[in-house]
Amino acid sequence: MLTPVVVARKSLADYTHIVGRPLIEEIRELAEPLKGARIVHLNATSYGGGVAEILHTLIPLMQDVGLDCEWHVIYGQEEFFQATKVMHNALQGNPQAVSDEQWAVWHQYNEMNARELSRGWDCCVVHDPQPAAIATLEPGKARAWVWRCHIDVSSPNPATMQRLLPYIEPYPASLFHVRDYVPDGLDGGVHIVPPAIDPLASKNMALSRDDAEHICDQIGIDVRRPLLCQVSRFDPWKDPQGVIDAYRIVKERRPEVQLALVGSMASDDPEGWEFYDATVAHAEGDPDIHILNNFNNVGAVEVNAFQSLSDVVIQKSTREGFGLTVSEALWKGRPFVGGAVGGIPLQIQNGKSGFLVSSIEECAARSLEILEDADLGTSLGRYGKQFVRENFLMPRYLRDYLKIFTEVL
Ligand code: UDP
Repeated sequence: MLTPVVVARKSLADYTHIVGRPLIEEIRELAEPLKGARIVHLNATSYGGGVAEILHTLIPLMQDVGLDCEWHVIYGQEEFFQATKVMHNALQGNPQAVSDEQWAVWHQYNEMNARELSRGWDCCVVHDPQPAAIATLEPGKARAWVWRCHIDVSSPNPATMQRLLPYIEPYPASLFHVRDYVPDGLDGGVHIVPPAIDPLASKNMALSRDDAEHICDQIGIDVRRPLLCQVSRFDPWKDPQGVIDAYRIVKERRPEVQLALVGSMASDDPEGWEFYDATVAHAEGDPDIHILNNFNNVGAVEVNAFQSLSDVVIQKSTREGFGLTVSEALWKGRPFVGGAVGGIPLQIQNGKSGFLVSSIEECAARSLEILEDADLGTSLGRYGKQFVRENFLMPRYLRDYLKIFTEVL
């Protein structure tokens, strides 16, 4: 029932000249005593969204440095994902708390998955709240347990957080993106570790302007006209409808502007399609708004092309755990405008590597400013790329995990 995910092979050596030799050497030294350690990562989906994106690189790199590392996706049906979606939203601050019935469903699926998990792991890394109870239910199945929180839990629904906490406290280590997210009452074993992107994945590899234009042109973008773009799941917290409203303000001044909303649909997100339809309706048939998803063959390379070609990359979230799409855009040297929430300010120094905004009007004004000043866009992009190189590339994240494994084992 737990489904192992097959991952590609990756080699840490390939990253040497991107992140520098000292970091690669540090990783090799940390990995040496951990060789052969049996590590399993558990999460809810193998595609769509940031967690899957990260694990598709992190697991192969853990394998490459000698860990015996696997990734298993937990079993769940509609009722479970409905419950965990409510839980996810509540933990991000939605007033609707998880009902007793939904807690029971969550617990029941955690019991099933805990039973299914095989024995003999040195460390089990549990991602996000969906499988969080497994450590409490079957503590003997791994020598050590790590809980990795990927969501913005800075102002959670208190009732839901209170009920989840007893399942998180037993973990010897828990990881959060920023200090602000650590729940009150959780002390001991807390680590602040932001995630990272893979500069060598097809999503982030350097793409020439010609190639990016060729791809976007085939998808219906007029590559001679300015393009605004947001890449994200169709989720209310990502505010794609607010992006449309901001685009409309920009369009009054720059009628030639186009907007692309590129969004994948994740298997653990039952509300995705409903919200997708609402977003399409919000666009009111404007031919310059392109709403695309992974079912229109918009995969990693296409996302890369949109991020590489856009005149402004937007991430107008109102809650954002980290926002891999931010580092992805900066890595391509693109000017960025995003919500001043969650993990976005961690990646953006306002005015230097992009702009942080708190309203539709501000988002539109900053986008216009960039469209009207090519030099501004170039300097934001250049600074942003260097910042990502120093802070948000996968080898740094791998190193942080190895340190934590060393500690818990
Ligand atoms: N993504 C994608 N295709 C899409 C939309 C998103 O590949 O159509 C990727 C995006 O490039 C990023 C990840 O999904 O790597 C989303 O991660 P993020 O941290 O931004 O948000 P999350 O979905 O985890 O809330």
